[in-house]
Amino acid sequence: MRAKRSKKYRKLMHQYELTFGFRAPYQVLLDSNFLQQVHNFKMDLIPALERTVQGNVKPLLTKCSLAAITAAQPINPKTGKPFRPYHLPPPTVLPLRHCSHNPNSEPIDEIDCLLSLLSPNAEAKKNKEHYILATADPAVKKSDNNNDNQQRKRKRDEEREEEQALRRARNLRVRARSIPGVPIIYVKRSVMVLEPLSTPSENVREGVEMDKFRVGLPEPQPKTDEAAEGAAKKKIPGLKKARGPNPLSVKKPKKRAAESGPAKTPRKNDGTGASNENGAGDGPDGEEAGAPKTKRRRRHHKSGFREENEDGAPSTQADQAMGVDA
Ligand SMILES: [Zn+2]
Repeated sequence: MRAKRSKKYRKLMHQYELTFGFRAPYQVLLDSNFLQQVHNFKMDLIPALERTVQGNVKPLLTKCSLAAITAAQPINPKTGKPFRPYHLPPPTVLPLRHCSHNPNSEPIDEIDCLLSLLSPNAEAKKNKEHYILATADPAVKKSDNNNDNQQRKRKRDEEREEEQALRRARNLRVRARSIPGVPIIYVKRSVMVLEPLSTPSENVREGVEMDKFRVGLPEPQPKTDEAAEGAAKKKIPGLKKARGPNPLSVKKPKKRAAESGPAKTPRKNDGTGASNENGAGDGPDGEEAGAPKTKRRRRHHKSGFREENEDGAPSTQADQAMGVDA
């Protein structure tokens, strides 16, 4: 039974992820009724929430919800502040979500606060922050059966208040459902329930699915030239332009001629030959290594060159030759 439900909820959250971009850890806005019921049914807040959404959660309590919780508390005469209610978890477990609705940032009605966070823009209903709403019907107060007239009157007043609170809680859920992409958790008889997609959410999901389907169909031909250019520029996946063969896989037509031609290899030999000659002939003359041509010439002239030297002709070549000799 429980396995079946968890599978259903995992599927549901997956739809919220695909359609609305929800990601764990999920931000969950808890209202005062929810906290009260979690306490009444002795549920473990975080584990119960995480079982429900099948993922890590980041629970949040708005300032206005906190104000609603503390407003119902009696005042501690010692501190002059309301008693901390048992059903309010410590801020380490349930951090405060700061909200500001007016210049003085005074708390407003809890329901208005929650709805303004779920959909910041009242017209364009969109749950931009990807909040989950966790709510509940208000707890029914136990009243002792007293036949006293005054007690009876008080009971009637309480019942009226309860009825009003119940209507408000239901109203919150109805209005939250009208915002597409708001997962709603509520407590129902000691069980946390994740509501199925609301009709507006379902409509958005179907729209997304239709878009996916449309991508697969061929696009209609653009009418204007500009549109045609735009379409041509756009890269359509799967559509390839007719191009020539891969240049890397084709033999070059000139390659054979180059191989047979004597141009390349002899030139290479020339180079190496020159350097070899340099190494053998003018070993100590490191400066001359950069200019093999002149050296080669010099080497060829060496025999004749000495003769010149003997003649006493002053030249740079002669100086260098003398250096080599010495
Ligand atoms: Zn608020």
